[in-house]
Amino acid sequence: MTDLIKHSPNSPILLTASLHVDEARKAISDLVNELIEDSRKLNTASDMESVVLDQAINRILAEDLLSPINVPAADNSAMDGFAFNGDCLGNSEELATLKIVGTAYAGKPYEGVIGPGECLKIMTGAVMPHECDTVIPQEFTESANELVASFKQNQVKRGENRRLRGEDLQSGKAAIAAGRLLRPSDLGLAASLGIGSLKVHRKLKVAILSSGDELRPLGEPLGAGSIYDSNRYSLTGLLNRLNLEIIDCGIVRDDPASLKAAFIDAASKADVLISSGGVSVGEADFTKQIMQELGDVGFWKIAMRPGRPMALGMLKPVHGSSRKILFFGLPGNPVAVMVTFYQFVRSALLQLNGASQTEPPMTQAIAEAPIRKKPGRTEFQRAILGRGSDGKPTVKLTGSQGAGILRSMSEANCFVILPHDQANVAAGDWVDVALFDGLL
Ligand code: AMP
Ligand code: MG
Repeated sequence: MTDLIKHSPNSPILLTASLHVDEARKAISDLVNELIEDSRKLNTASDMESVVLDQAINRILAEDLLSPINVPAADNSAMDGFAFNGDCLGNSEELATLKIVGTAYAGKPYEGVIGPGECLKIMTGAVMPHECDTVIPQEFTESANELVASFKQNQVKRGENRRLRGEDLQSGKAAIAAGRLLRPSDLGLAASLGIGSLKVHRKLKVAILSSGDELRPLGEPLGAGSIYDSNRYSLTGLLNRLNLEIIDCGIVRDDPASLKAAFIDAASKADVLISSGGVSVGEADFTKQIMQELGDVGFWKIAMRPGRPMALGMLKPVHGSSRKILFFGLPGNPVAVMVTFYQFVRSALLQLNGASQTEPPMTQAIAEAPIRKKPGRTEFQRAILGRGSDGKPTVKLTGSQGAGILRSMSEANCFVILPHDQANVAAGDWVDVALFDGLL
């Protein structure tokens, strides 16, 4: 257990002082490493499986994918033009005139030999004859008819417009490294090597539940003071982006017995449990008590907005299992759920599932208008990334930024991330931006 987690349940310091986002991320990553170490020791059933390419999107490659072939398999032409031996090239503008002895097409090589003073009409992708090392593109010839092609001797250099065998990838070398979160290009790359299935880590089983007496499932009428449970749906969407197995544990009422039973049930089925609600100041004591019985869970105040309260830790193995369960108790506010998922949960799930790159990509853009910001917390403001009249990237916040206002998130296409020490942002300042597309 990392110290931050071990000490936090009873630590007055961590309950009153706020934890820097980076400290929280580090503690989570350490915790995940401990879980990975534990499961290595347990040496449970293999965590790998083979999947066909069309099922492999967003899975994590478990072994280096070695190329069984050279790509390209043979030297070939990069242009439509004429292939010849570069011996006839020189530094002057004097014309070289070569006799055309045949044509090579992609997939239909020329079988004959190209002698001195000769060339071959060649199409892009067609195999280069052994005697040739250079291609003059059609449009760079001075004249060309059925019989001869003429071009200036200094128009190309030896070796130009030729793709070399194995230039993209050599046989036996890793085409994709283990740990890759597989994207569409990776599936295409595997197919280009003739590989139809990939060894990936098994899908993580992630249980989700919503806690709160006020929550109603869809389809039921809303009574006074009740609201629809939206968090399970945003969480399902977020988890689906990662091609995981989702176990939906529904809505749980705010009473200790139901909550405890739900946590035990979820823990018996899943590798990870994500709950939302019930960790804010008013409710933490109640949840904390249950969590102390079920595992080692820390209750944190994180210096961030939205998403300040969060619980994190491990649940003890249940029902004869020897596996501990990673637990995230996210805040209940709908935007805070998405922000904490983005900032903490997504990376932890990827790390736990063997991904080598777990951090989402970031970019920068110019703030169109001033943004108010207090130093001492990291803020995740919802915004739209666009382009100014000068072509530079710009961001504009989407309306009211309250933690419960899901519309601010739905209308946005990115977060503006304002770092811990940042004060107010002036219009025209550059700010950090994390795009949702494909992530959230
Ligand atoms: P809590 O963290 O339980 O104090 O909840 C904070 C706020 O988020 C309250 O206004 C809750 O009603 C709301 N909330 C909690 N859980 C959900 C949920 N599953 N769906 C929508 N809103 C929620
Ligand atoms: Mg609540």
